Order: sequence, then C-alpha cells, then structure tokens
Amino acid sequence: MPLPNSSPDETEADFDLDELNNICPSCAKTFARKYDLKRHLVIHSGVRPYVCQGGCGEAFKRSDARQRHWVKNPTCEARHLGRVIGTQEGERMLKRYAHRQARRLESGPEFKKHVKSSAKRESPV
Ligand SMILES: [Zn+2]
Ligand SMILES: [Zn+2]
Repeated sequence: MPLPNSSPDETEADFDLDELNNICPSCAKTFARKYDLKRHLVIHSGVRPYVCQGGCGEAFKRSDARQRHWVKNPTCEARHLGRVIGTQEGERMLKRYAHRQARRLESGPEFKKHVKSSAKRESPV
C-alpha cells in the first residue's frame, strides 16, 4: 500500500483521520497503521491471544514470542499446526513451516557434507 506522502494538501482536509488517531491511550505512543496500534494495545491489556495449541497450555502476547517457543519446542508447533490446519492461520503456518524445513535442510549436515568445505563445523547454540 503506497503512502500518500507526496505534497500533503492540508487545506483539503481529506486526510485519513483514522491514520491520525492511531495513538495508544495508555502510553500515547503513535503508530503509522491501525494494525500496529492494535498489536501494541495487547501489551497493555495483558491478553495473550497467541495460544500454543500444542498441548503445553502456553499463551503469548505476540506471535513472535510464540514462534520462539516453537523453535524450542518443535513438537508443540507440529501439534498446533495439526489443529489449525485448514484455517487461514494453518495455511500461513504451513507455508512458513515448509520454508523453514527447506532452509533447515540446506544448512543441515547433509548439505554441508555435499558442499564439503574446509571450514570448521560449528554447533548451533
Ligand atoms: Zn501503549
Ligand atoms: Zn507449546
């Protein structure tokens, strides 16, 4: 979505009021997009909408936190994926999942063996 930032005509007053109102009522932080504000508001509400449905009962304020949880607990991610499959979230996850699996293979030992470089093997932390 292109931002109309070229020659803003203030006299016409047809700018998006919604855009100007993306201010957090709790900390007065401003956001360029409503989406960003919405995501930010969660921090104050204490709600954790990103639930891991992998059976561990954990919930997270942000999707990237849940993502980190899944990096540590791939079983959770696989189970969660099994539950949301067929939904919009499931579709998104599947794509990301497949993408990551592909990258994992590329950087995995099989690939390294194939490349056979003289570099020392580094174990991931
Ligand atoms: Zn805030
Ligand atoms: Zn989990």
